[in-house]
Amino acid sequence: MIADRAACEALDRADPLAGRRALFDLTPGQIYLDGNSLGALPRAVKPRLDAAVQAEWGRDLIKSWNTADWINLPARVGAKIAPLIGAAPDEVIAADSTSVNIFKLAAGALKLRPGRKVIVTEPGNFPTDLYILQGLRDLMGDVELRVVEQAGLEAALTDEVALLLLTHVHYKTGRVHDMARLTAQAHAAGALVLWDLSHSAGALAVDLSGCGADLAVGCGYKYLNGGPGAPAFLFVAKRLQADFQSPLTGWMGHAAPFAFGDDYAPAKGVLRGLCGTPSVLGLTALEAALTVFDGVDMADIRAKSMVLGDLFLDLALARCPEFGLGCSRDAIQRGSQVALTHPQGYPIMQALIHRGVIGDFRAPDVLRFGFTPLYVGYADVWDAVEILVDIMANEQWREARFHEIAAVT
Ligand SMILES: *Cc1c(COP(=O)(O)O)cnc(C)c1O
Repeated sequence: MIADRAACEALDRADPLAGRRALFDLTPGQIYLDGNSLGALPRAVKPRLDAAVQAEWGRDLIKSWNTADWINLPARVGAKIAPLIGAAPDEVIAADSTSVNIFKLAAGALKLRPGRKVIVTEPGNFPTDLYILQGLRDLMGDVELRVVEQAGLEAALTDEVALLLLTHVHYKTGRVHDMARLTAQAHAAGALVLWDLSHSAGALAVDLSGCGADLAVGCGYKYLNGGPGAPAFLFVAKRLQADFQSPLTGWMGHAAPFAFGDDYAPAKGVLRGLCGTPSVLGLTALEAALTVFDGVDMADIRAKSMVLGDLFLDLALARCPEFGLGCSRDAIQRGSQVALTHPQGYPIMQALIHRGVIGDFRAPDVLRFGFTPLYVGYADVWDAVEILVDIMANEQWREARFHEIAAVT
């Protein structure tokens, strides 16, 4: 086990990703362990947004749909996300929010499996995934939601199932599903699978094509660093695109939006997953943010994130035995985040944030720490644990100000 800060500094010096940190605009003295919730700001974003605001919006105005190619932003940004998730460039678009994309793809999956009325998913998933499925069920009237624990998933995949929706990396525990195996099980039952990659894209190597995946969605503001409320993405496998029907038949998903006809006809390919006018500034920021991945091997990111997570758990659990473990101890089974549990998790996290170690809290007792290998180093982990140890030893979390519950935790 790593015994001192010098050993961490040595790891940082040998780190093939060390140079990437300079691509981010990080606050000095702050250790940011929440890139799984909102990615840090890549330096490339601000000048690109400034130019988009001044020249494209400010000066060229409506001409920029053509001259700056605004109209193709969803496809262009989607094509840049594609290699990070093992997809072809024409299988991904960036648009809307993850929630809205789940709705579009889940409804589309029901259409692709006529006669089948069951959607299988897991309890304890990120709430929006469950809420959107509940809304879809209520809208459709005749759809059944089968919400089953991991161990029961295979048995739940009967011949009435149209869709299995799973989140690849669990938002709270970081548990990683076996995408290839579960996709194959769903296919054996004649069902489609919708993978939510919100905590996977940009964090670990995802191979949608290699797994034979059907549908996927994911988040632009977590490991993809697209900024608060960044557009999300959606993936439809090429072999399904011709038959996929979005329930949100907006004009931007039309075959000829500028023909202004009265009747809807879907665009070719994954573009039919679009709905309304793209969020140009949001997509522009996300496009610039994605340049931090240029030339990066996802295997390097994954390897470093596993070591960072293990280092944090080794140090934190050895030095603060009062914490419970809220994630797998085996890095292979985790995404790029770890979870500690403590009944006073909320004020402890507030005290950490006050001391410049930014993680987050998830009810009822989880302290969540994300490790983003592009900008978090080994010495950061050492320093974060030092501060945690100090807060626990001095009971700093008992201060009243750390017990006030904010709207966003
Ligand atoms: C972050 C996250 C979302 C986010 O959905 P929004 O529509 O962007 O609010 C959805 N699903 C999962 C699993 C997430 O982790």
